[in-house]
This record gives sequence, structure tokens and C-alpha cells, in this order.
Amino acid sequence: MDPRTIGILGGGQLGRMLLEAANNRNINVAILDKKASPAKQINATNPGVDGSFADAQAIRKLASQCDVLTVEIEHVDTYVLEELEKESLSQSKKLKIQPSWQAIRTIQDKHLQKMLLLEGGIDVARSMAVPTASEKELRIVESNLRYPFMLKARTGAYDGRGNYAVMSDKDVQPALDALKNRPLYAEEWVNFTMELAVMVVKTWDEADSSSWASSTISYPTVETVHEDSICKLVYAPARGISNEMNQRAQQLARKAIASFKGKGIFGVEMFLLEDNRILVNEIAPRPHNSGHYTIESCRLSQYDTHLSAILDRPIPAKATELLRPTIMLNILGGEDPKSFLRLANAADSAGAKVHLYGKGDATKGRKMGHLTVLGNTMEEAEQDIEPLIRLADEIRD
Ligand code: ATP
Ligand code: MG
Ligand code: MG
Repeated sequence: MDPRTIGILGGGQLGRMLLEAANNRNINVAILDKKASPAKQINATNPGVDGSFADAQAIRKLASQCDVLTVEIEHVDTYVLEELEKESLSQSKKLKIQPSWQAIRTIQDKHLQKMLLLEGGIDVARSMAVPTASEKELRIVESNLRYPFMLKARTGAYDGRGNYAVMSDKDVQPALDALKNRPLYAEEWVNFTMELAVMVVKTWDEADSSSWASSTISYPTVETVHEDSICKLVYAPARGISNEMNQRAQQLARKAIASFKGKGIFGVEMFLLEDNRILVNEIAPRPHNSGHYTIESCRLSQYDTHLSAILDRPIPAKATELLRPTIMLNILGGEDPKSFLRLANAADSAGAKVHLYGKGDATKGRKMGHLTVLGNTMEEAEQDIEPLIRLADEIRD
């Protein structure tokens, strides 16, 4: 369908599902990650590069085999991506990097990301930098934001590993210990009524606010449920919100993404407040856990439209419509390294669509797979998934 080779930095589950979408279209993909990472396991057509997506030399090696470079994780070396883009432009080479290294670099630092969103007129929780990790510094934070507040690692965070809820004085030292040696910032506590998320596909290269409306396409607004800061469930569409609210969240997500340069899929996590205001929590410059449901429930999944966007193929507006009410449940590791398979088996027998990521044995809380339940109505999907949620809770305890 397209003779170009796509290079993916990272071979985790998002890379694996991106590869599944590419395989359906005979698109050649090379992956940079450890040997036998989830995505590499299913890519017999291209050996890719064994190594780390944070290693400049390995990224250069991958780039030499590809026409378009993209990411499935934001924690990559963006300095080499910047060099590669400059070399490509000066030598009239064809290599494209999507989304842009600028977008990835800003998003990597959650505090910088928030500053950029504020500049773009997007509401976010009040936050402040924590230049030195000390008790004295956290007293200053407390006098500004009050307890409770969330102490967060600026970089390298995922699945809540990098967040510490500081409820009172007694949490100050444990928080500093838990996040020691990491650059930090602090955020006011948000009493949200619901967490929302929207996947946005960007089809325009430049951060051009005048054209954001025509260069961004959104998927519907979904509801995400987190437990211990890790995503557990996704309801598509978000339950109990008006159509107006659903549209408003999509509009906000599209506007937020317009501030970033580059093409491809982005995830936008949001907090819905009691007074119906919406704050953006954070952005991911890649496919996102809250968009897995699109595989079964939209004409084109978040992985399909990411490929279309970075290859400059058209994406009809209909492609991102939700066709059926859907619930996604993450399959997380329990204490026993194999207990997650009980959930996968039960889901499979119950007619849920099971996706396992090929990660071998589990550790507690690790994302090992996910399952998707479709309903004629949301109530039907809720009824069908209820025993699976109970089993998931049993496995995690
Ligand atoms: P991800 O896996 O989504 O990248 P992450 O490690 O970057 O996660 P965040 O998105 O910052 O972490 O936070 C994870 C969860 O913690 C949020 O979805 C929310 O449930 C809760 N949370 C984060 N920030 C706040 C806040 N300021 N106030 C209240 N709860 C918060
Ligand atoms: Mg994050
Ligand atoms: Mg998050």
C-alpha cells in the first residue's frame, strides 16, 4: 500500500498494536527496542534494531533503515531526533520524524508541557516548579497550594510511577524519599468528578493555531477510571455526560493538541470538575491506553489513523466515530506472576475481546494486556463486564 518503511522507537504494547495495524496494510515497520519486546515478537518481516530508544546511536541505526520515524513512548532521546531532522533537511533526504521532536521534548517534561498549554489558553491545575527536593521547598509549595497536593516527577513518569500524594506534613519526607534524584514539580489537588480522555489525530505539520480546527480530528470523549494512579477502566462514551459536554471536551482536546508541532495521534487526559469546567491533566504524543477501545469500536483505530496521519493519507471524519458503547478493562499483574491469565481466560470464555501483550510473567500492577466488551447499550456492556471487574479486583488484592 505504501512502499515507505516506518521506524518505531519503542516496542511495548503500543508498538505491538501499531504493528498489527501496519501489518494489515502491508506497511513495512522496523522497531527499536530490546530483542523479543512485545512488538518485535510479531514482526518477522523486519529485524529492526536491538537496543534502547534512549540511545542516540541505536536511533541513528534505525533511522538509516527508515523513511518515517515515530514513537510509541515519549521517553526517547529527542536531541538525536533534532540532529537527524536537520541532517535530513540539509541533505535533502527523505527522513521524516512524526510527531516533531519539539512536541516530544516539551511533553517529556510534564511541567514544561503545562506551561505551554497555559500559553495556549488551555486550563490546567495550578502547579509550581520544585527546584530542589527539600523539606523547606515543600513548605513553600504547601503555603501556595495547601494540602493535599500532588508531588510529581517532571520526567520519566508513567502509570503513576512518579506521583506522590502529599496529604499532610507526615508525607513530606516519604514523598521526597520516593521521588529522590528526580526533577520535581508540584500540582494542586484536583477534586474531579470524573476523568475524561480524548484521542486526537493531527494531520498538519506546523503549530498553527489559525488552522487547528481543520487539521485535528477527534475520537469521542471517554471516561477513564484510575486506581492507585494507574488506568483500570475506560468507558466509551463517558457515562452520564451530555452531548454538549462530550463535544466540548473534544474541542478542548483538539485545541490543546494544536499547540504541538507534528502529525499523528495524541492522547489528552482531562479532569471534569463539579462546576463543569474541564482541566487538561496531561498529553501523550502517541497512541494511548484510553484509545485501545477504538480497535473494536471505531471504523479506524487510533493505530490506523496514526499510520494514515504520518503517511499523509486521508482520514475521513467518519473514521473516528464510536459505533458501539464499549468498556475496556486493563489486565494488570497480581502478586502471583501468572494470575493475570485467569482474567484473560475468563474474558475469552465470556466473549470479550482479549489482547495479551506477550510480556511473559507479570509483576504486580504491570499492564499485561487488556480486554474489550461491546454492548448494544452501555448498560449491557456494564452487565457483561461486571464479573470480569470482580475477578480483576480479586487478582490485584
Ligand atoms: P500515565 O500512565 O497516564 O502517563 P502518569 O504517571 O503520567 O500516568 P498522571 O497522569 O500525572 O500520571 O496521574 C495519574 C493519575 O493520578 C491521574 O489520572 C489521576 O487519577 C491522579 N492525579 C494526577 N494528578 C492529580 C492531581 N493534581 N490531583 C488529583 N489527582 C491527580
Ligand atoms: Mg503520563
Ligand atoms: Mg496520566
